[in-house]
Amino acid sequence: MKEFLISKYKDVEPYVPGEQPRDKKYLKLNTNESPYSPSEAVLKAVADSASSLQLYPDPACRDLKAALAGSLGLQPENILPTNGSDEVLSLSFMAYAHDEKPAYYADVTYGFYDVLSGLFGVKAKHFALRDDFTIDISEYCGLDSGLIVIANPNAPTGIAIGVNEIEKICKESPDCVVLIDEAYVEFGAESAVGLVTKYPNLIVSRTYSKSMSLAGARLGYAIANEERIRELETLKYTLNPYSVNRTALAAGVAAVEDIEYYKNNCRLVAETRDRTAERLKELGFELTDSKTNFVFCRHPGVQASELTDKLRQAGILVRHFTGERTNDWLRISIGTPEDMLALTNTLEEILNGGRV
Ligand SMILES: *Cc1c(COP(=O)(O)O)cnc(C)c1O
Repeated sequence: MKEFLISKYKDVEPYVPGEQPRDKKYLKLNTNESPYSPSEAVLKAVADSASSLQLYPDPACRDLKAALAGSLGLQPENILPTNGSDEVLSLSFMAYAHDEKPAYYADVTYGFYDVLSGLFGVKAKHFALRDDFTIDISEYCGLDSGLIVIANPNAPTGIAIGVNEIEKICKESPDCVVLIDEAYVEFGAESAVGLVTKYPNLIVSRTYSKSMSLAGARLGYAIANEERIRELETLKYTLNPYSVNRTALAAGVAAVEDIEYYKNNCRLVAETRDRTAERLKELGFELTDSKTNFVFCRHPGVQASELTDKLRQAGILVRHFTGERTNDWLRISIGTPEDMLALTNTLEEILNGGRV
C-alpha cells in the first residue's frame, strides 16, 4: 500500500468523543451538555446572524472581546475568543510546550491533553492524583519550564482546588505557563480569572459549551495577560483566522448580556447534582465531591461497564472511561430534575435485579 500520510502522524491517537447515536432517542447523560436551551435573546441573535452569513466574521472578534472584558472587569486585550475552549488548549500546547519543554498534568484528567501532546510531539509528564483523586499541588511548584495544565474543577473526577492553590503554583513555577482549564467553573468552583493581571504566566480557558448551553456553537475563550493573548492570537491567525464564526460571535455576545438566565441554569444544575448525589449514595454508590455538571461514581457491587450497558439498553447514555484508575467509575452528566429521576429509578431497578 502506498503511504501518503507523513510518518510523524502515523501513530497519533485522536480524542474519542462521547457517542452520539442515532438508532433511537436516548437520554444523553454522556457529554456534559446543558439540559437547558439557549436563552430567547441568544436564539434571536443566532437567527438574525443568518442574513449576513455571506460575509466573513470579524477575525479580531472585537464585539465579543468587549462584552467578555466588560463582564469580567478586564480589558479586551486580555481575551481571545476561540472555536471551543479546545482551541485554547491546542494553541497553548503549540505555543508553550515541546519535546524539551514538557507539559505537566494529572494522570486522571481531560483526555484531550494527551491527544495534543501526541500531535505536537510534546513530552507529557503525568503527576498521579492521590488515591482519592485529589491533586498534590506541591508537584506543580518549583518546575522550571514548559506548560502546567490543570482542569479546575478536574474532569472526570469533578474535584476542585482553591484559587489560593493556583496562585501558589503561578508564583512558585514562574517560568512555566500555567493553564487553568475552567470548563466547569460556573457550577461551583472558584475562578482564577482574578489572578491574570497579577501573574503573566497564567492563562485561564473558559467555554460556552457547558454553562452557556452552546456546545453546538463551538465557542470558548482564553483570559490572560495581554502578551500571552497576543502570542496565542498570532498562532490563531496562522492556523485559522476565522475560527470563530459569525453566528457563534453573535450568540456569544447575546449570552453575556443574558447572564442571569445562565447563572440561574447553573444554579439549577448544581442543585440537581447535589440531590442526585444524595440519591446515588442511598443506592450504595460512592461519589467524589463534584463541583461540575456531572457526578463521578462507582458501585461496590456492580461493575461500571455492566451498569453502562444496562443503562444503554434502558435508553440512558453515561460515560465510562476504561483507564486503569477510572475503569470502576461512571461519569454521569446532570440533566433536568426529571432526567435524573429517570436515571436513579433505572439504576435502582438494575441494582434490584429488575433489568438483566
Ligand atoms: C468540555 C471540556 C472542554 C472543551 O470544551 P469545548 O467544547 O471545546 O469548549 C475543555 N476542557 C474540559 C475539561 C472539558 O470537559
